[in-house]
Amino acid sequence: MVERCDVLVIGAGPAGAAAACALARVGLAVRVLEKAAFPRPKLCGEFLSPEARAPLARLGALAPLIAAGAPAVTGVLFSDPRGRCLAVDFADVAGVRDAGLGVRRTVMDALLVDCARAAGATVREEFAVTAITGEPGALLVRGHAVGGAAGGGAPPDAASAPGAARAAGDGEETFAARVVLGADGRYSMCTVDRDLARGAAARHFGIKAHFRGARDLAGRVEIQVFPGGYGGLVAVDGGGTNACFLVEAAALKSSRGDLDRVLAEVVCANPAMRERMNGAERTDEWISTGPLAYVAARRPLPGTLLVGDAAGFIDPLTGDGMAMALRGAELVTRYAAAAARAGGVTPEIAAAYEAERRSEFRRRLLVARLLRHVTTRPRAARVVIPALARAPRLARFLVGATRRP
Ligand SMILES: Cc1cc2nc3c(=O)[nH]c(=O)nc-3n(C[C@H](O)[C@H](O)[C@H](O)COP(=O)(O)OP(=O)(O)OC[C@H]3O[C@@H](n4cnc5c(N)ncnc54)[C@H](O)[C@@H]3O)c2cc1C
Repeated sequence: MVERCDVLVIGAGPAGAAAACALARVGLAVRVLEKAAFPRPKLCGEFLSPEARAPLARLGALAPLIAAGAPAVTGVLFSDPRGRCLAVDFADVAGVRDAGLGVRRTVMDALLVDCARAAGATVREEFAVTAITGEPGALLVRGHAVGGAAGGGAPPDAASAPGAARAAGDGEETFAARVVLGADGRYSMCTVDRDLARGAAARHFGIKAHFRGARDLAGRVEIQVFPGGYGGLVAVDGGGTNACFLVEAAALKSSRGDLDRVLAEVVCANPAMRERMNGAERTDEWISTGPLAYVAARRPLPGTLLVGDAAGFIDPLTGDGMAMALRGAELVTRYAAAAARAGGVTPEIAAAYEAERRSEFRRRLLVARLLRHVTTRPRAARVVIPALARAPRLARFLVGATRRP
């Protein structure tokens, strides 16, 4: 027997969990398949931008996040490779009414999955989707248990997954859905141009770890540029500091992949970063990913809709990826619900959703691209950051532009 649902969501990151929550709330039968087990670490700067607050509050996740100790982030500080700084406080930026937050992804993502389950979605963890076949309105999604759920053990939410068919022998299972939401991140399998994300010119790798004892960041998220990359620091719940950097492949190679050396020799070539990290002690393992490619928009497989990074991956520098994933989940909910009721995603529904997504995010993507030109070119950063420090109104305008649709 093949389990059926109205909407099947692949991936339970912020985009997938938020969309599943909203779709379950409007009475649809929603199933989520996620290959990881929560809480799961995630390579991320862990800065949640102010505009993420509203969608989080609508999901019921903002108050628990603050109660879990997520510190307020009241501004941003940029420093050029010589350590010269430019600070902008959100209170001075037109249109920004709130502070951001520093959030551990282990905490926030698990909380969003709880919201989806509480709304009535069936979330299956440790299940990797491997194939999507069928026609719009009658899609078949295949995959298999991974990790602790593989090898015959009961899946983590076995009680909420009755009737899932297990193919004899190889453990493959198949699910049928009217609508499939691709919320499976930047290497989404729901795109027709999947190779674009992997093959696009990309020279940066992401690395991240938590530290204790880093210098006080004065409530700001910090973006530091150094020869060979750029990256950020932010205080997070639990009293630590998240350190996340994008480092050129050549810099990683010269440190022979030893990420503590990359921090000491490459990242801390920036005097401001050196000062912050002086005496800081790493409290967990480094995680890394890459090379990272940036793709503003991708085409979904027929019958599917894309949301979050699957739909387009913004430069992490803006710290807007999670906010866009949450807002994107709100946008896609209306179209996915209409498609489920109409029997599937029609080309008209797909086109209308894509048009609204583009118009909502166009400006942020454009400014992110401009900022990326500065942060990935240390010479440009040496000119632009001190110049903006002397032109605070322009600096505030630019920061505001990444924070508004
Ligand atoms: C270096 C770096 C730093 C960043 N810093 C920030 C920051 O400070 N602030 C910010 O807002 N954003 C930041 N981002 C961006 C942010 O992490 C993403 O925009 C956000 O996670 C997107 O959410 P999502 O739900 O679309 O995707 P994801 O969070 O990637 O979730 C996708 C989920 O899909 C699952 N999945 C994938 N394939 C399958 C499959 N085949 N079967 C089942 N499940 C699958 C994955 O396990 C994952 O849980 C950063 C990104 C990078 C790379």
